[in-house]
Amino acid sequence: MCGIVGYIGKRDAYPVLIQGLHRLEYRGYDSSGVAMISNTGELNVYKAKGKVEALEHFAQSKDLNGKIGIAHTRWATHGEPNDINAHPHCSQSGKFALVHNGTIENYNVLKVALLKHGYSFVSETDTEVVVQLIEYIQDTNNCSLFDAVREAMKQIVGAYAIAVIDRDNPDQIIAARQSSPLVIGVGDDEYFLASDATPIIEYTNKVVYLNDGEIAVINRGEKLHVFKIKGETETSINITELKMSIEELEKGGYPHFMLKEIFEQPKTLADCISGRITSDGKKVVLSGVICNKEKFLNANRIIIVACGTSWHAGLIGKHLFEDFCRIPVEVEYASEFRYRNPVVTDKDVLIALSQSGETADTLAALELAKKSGAFVFGICNVIGSSIPRATDSGCYIHVGPEIGVASTKAFTGQVTVLAMMSILIGQMKGTIDKATFEKVAADIRRVPKLIKEIFKMDSQIKDLAKIFTYARNFLYLGRGYNYPAALEGALKLKEISYIHAEGYPAAEMKHGTIALIDDEMPTVVIAIKDNVYEKTLSNIQQVKARNGRVIAIVTEGDDVVSKLVDYTIEVPEISECLTPLLTSIPLQLLAYYIAVNKGRNVDQPRNLAKSVTVE
Ligand code: GLU
Repeated sequence: MCGIVGYIGKRDAYPVLIQGLHRLEYRGYDSSGVAMISNTGELNVYKAKGKVEALEHFAQSKDLNGKIGIAHTRWATHGEPNDINAHPHCSQSGKFALVHNGTIENYNVLKVALLKHGYSFVSETDTEVVVQLIEYIQDTNNCSLFDAVREAMKQIVGAYAIAVIDRDNPDQIIAARQSSPLVIGVGDDEYFLASDATPIIEYTNKVVYLNDGEIAVINRGEKLHVFKIKGETETSINITELKMSIEELEKGGYPHFMLKEIFEQPKTLADCISGRITSDGKKVVLSGVICNKEKFLNANRIIIVACGTSWHAGLIGKHLFEDFCRIPVEVEYASEFRYRNPVVTDKDVLIALSQSGETADTLAALELAKKSGAFVFGICNVIGSSIPRATDSGCYIHVGPEIGVASTKAFTGQVTVLAMMSILIGQMKGTIDKATFEKVAADIRRVPKLIKEIFKMDSQIKDLAKIFTYARNFLYLGRGYNYPAALEGALKLKEISYIHAEGYPAAEMKHGTIALIDDEMPTVVIAIKDNVYEKTLSNIQQVKARNGRVIAIVTEGDDVVSKLVDYTIEVPEISECLTPLLTSIPLQLLAYYIAVNKGRNVDQPRNLAKSVTVE
């Protein structure tokens, strides 16, 4: 949530900062701002409510020179999105400018103390307190900016990634992090700073991930220094080489990242599977699982913690692990789990699912489980992010950067990894028979091709979207493996079209939701040929008996459902456990086209942001 960019080097900072903000805009986009120290020593700060484009228009014709700067795209937590609350925030004397991602929990206490010391505040943000505190500490102790920032970080309670510049020292940026991500790009005599690697990759593939509790001193033309906030010692720097390509960050001719990412799925899933199922289809190779075989064999229970779309993938994981590994599984909202007093033991395996690897609640949930001695395993997309670094072991989904705020390819990547894990563990435990293992492994490899088949129905789905764009409410029904797919379909529609949608287990609908059904409310039913097919047919009859309009996702060649419902979309046949990988595709497209028809900003839906790094 929120994007931070920084630059110090020989280039003009402004183009680097603005381009970086565009790349990070998916993380937050209610307002943005830049601060640069000009070549004549002024600290120029420009901020604007709205998208980065608004900032660009505002900044045009201003003094944009300078070889050092910081920038921010905001996802407001304290104070409404407006020009004043936008970052960067400046200290009282106008000497320091600071950008911040996260929330400062004790900002009120600090603010009261600073008010007493004569400081005044112009914004409603928690962030402004931080920059004033830094100035206060420097003024009272007559210390360096580094020492002042370090001391301020010791006094702050909460989550933060920050970057600060000093008008009187155009050769330095100080950055620090606690629970919010920050990456430093190392170029030739220049440094880049960002919330994730996407703004950095076009300049350098060498990055340093700052760890929690670290503070970096980035001096122009000098070696990078990183210290612990608490403690005197300098920490050694680990330079990681990124493999990401710039093309992955572009729309590649599609009108939206979301559509590009939907259509990318045959490729991203092929990448996700690549090298992980042997060519004879008899083995799954996931080293994070194999190297920790005993942990999985001895697990009394698997706990999956996740949020949002990842939680839906986790629910499918529950079916997979229970079916093939005979291990009981609990799927938890990370935000609930972390504040309960959950019973976790050293016989539990906790799986943390998160696309970004930065989801604050998921990170906290895994830390909690770690303390109880559980073996902690991560399934993430962003390489080098916080969750993979905090876990005992894990497995990347390798679907490439996901920029669209509504997750698509990460969901199918997560389900694919969970499917591979489940049959691998089942094989190790002897709880899956050889024929089932080989059938599922072969079907996992067919998924990319079968998704391409589904794309042939793109224009049919577009036409359906036209028919249903009027709707104010939608119901999504599914059972078994496809109940989570129904939840996910409903979430996609809500997120990007702002139409109210509910996902429900089809049979459970009778116990309340059925009261909502009338000829105005469309119901999407996932009615593929699975072990509850006949039951789902009855549920469809129940909706039709109340004049409901039904769109059904059916197995190719099904001529029974089409006689009952208004519209059908066919998906190819595959092992039942993998059907959500196919049924979710038309639901992604349906949500996308309805949102486009409604004129929504699909990639940046209101109030949402990618990568929820705040609580
Ligand atoms: N809490 C800060 C604010 O509301 C930062 C939010 C963010 O991470 O964008 O301004």
